[in-house]
Amino acid sequence: MEGKCCQCGTDAMYEFHGHLLCLDCNAKRIKVSNDTNLQLMTMMNFLSDLMQSSLGLGYGHPRIQIPQPIHQNFPIDNLNNIHIDKSVIGTINTGDFVTINSNLDNIHLQVSEELAEQLKAFTNELVNDKQIDAKLKNQISELLSFITTHLLEKPTKKNIVLPLLKNILESVAGINSLFTLCEKIIVLVDSLE
Ligand SMILES: [Zn+2]
Repeated sequence: MEGKCCQCGTDAMYEFHGHLLCLDCNAKRIKVSNDTNLQLMTMMNFLSDLMQSSLGLGYGHPRIQIPQPIHQNFPIDNLNNIHIDKSVIGTINTGDFVTINSNLDNIHLQVSEELAEQLKAFTNELVNDKQIDAKLKNQISELLSFITTHLLEKPTKKNIVLPLLKNILESVAGINSLFTLCEKIIVLVDSLE
């Protein structure tokens, strides 16, 4: 293929909606699109569970089978907001923390400094907590990645974000520090425009 990648200027190998892309930039494009689909599937399952539980029908209804995420080991030594203890690396999906980290920067600049600080404190507590097992940590961090992404939209989609935060609040009910931080986050999100 003739031409240069419109993102980085190296030799293009693909064309996407009229834009030329190299191998690397095309791989990034596919990853973003897969991540979005996964988030939507997770969201649909959550809403479906929410509907079923509010109707008192139990959990026997069909859910979307979501493929197990591949744990990618992104470099995480250079995250400015999140400090991950060495003993935790390898058990957590670092990709979510890379997303949360960059979202925190943008929330700090564009939404609310205080909210960014509380989310940062919560994420750091969560990732290094010794009581929560890795599976729950990964579930919560996946939700946090989704929530922090949506907090950057205006107007704030409280109808999506608040139920998810309340879901997190329930799952950390046994851990005082996380519970208190999550409560503060809920109040702050509720007060956004
Ligand atoms: Zn490129």
